[in-house]
Amino acid sequence: MRTLQILVATKNVGKVKELKRLFADLPLCLRSLNEFPEVIEAEETGVTFAENAVLKAQSYALQTGVWALADDSGLEVEALGAAPGVFSARYAGKNATDEEKIEKLLGELNIRQDKRRRARFVCAMAISDKKGEIKFLTEGICAGRIALNAKGTNGFGYDPIFIPGGFSQTFGELSTETKGKISHRARASEKIIQYLRDFTAVSLDQWTFRL
Ligand code: IMP
Repeated sequence: MRTLQILVATKNVGKVKELKRLFADLPLCLRSLNEFPEVIEAEETGVTFAENAVLKAQSYALQTGVWALADDSGLEVEALGAAPGVFSARYAGKNATDEEKIEKLLGELNIRQDKRRRARFVCAMAISDKKGEIKFLTEGICAGRIALNAKGTNGFGYDPIFIPGGFSQTFGELSTETKGKISHRARASEKIIQYLRDFTAVSLDQWTFRL
């Protein structure tokens, strides 16, 4: 069976692992940015998750000549006016560790003595063909709240302080399988998967189709 090559436009191993798992039963050959060392990192200059996902997908597709799937995601905390939002990765400085980001966020909530702990993870996903044309753009949301303390070692990023709605444990404590069903990335992926399933079913069997 022919497979469509898709570059997963992220160097975040946690994300690549989650996406590989989610896309496991599609006829795709998922490639990672690490296989393209010459690629120049796309600047995330957008003000929304969707804008950044589109920027990244187009930039990496045009640089490599391979279809590219990019996601841009982050955490929005109500009491912080939806921060860190698109700055989630850089919230405590460019090279800060996940622990430092978590410490900063919990510290900000403490300083404000704000009792509101409502938060949500957002994930925008865009897929670009090799010419830089966006074929699909979607968003997934996982609503929940911020825990009082970090708990658990599963996942990455802010997982140890995020308790998804309907649960009493953080993503850091919940299993990969559970997160894989309800996360913002899983929800955005579902729609991308449907698009890719339809697309590959039609085009990969047609010898005339040029990917
Ligand atoms: P970007 O999408 O790579 O620009 O960065 C998103 C940042 O948001 C990550 O570096 C994490 O800090 C955070 N983030 C995104 N998705 C998740 C998740 O599923 N769990 C925990 N943190 C996340």
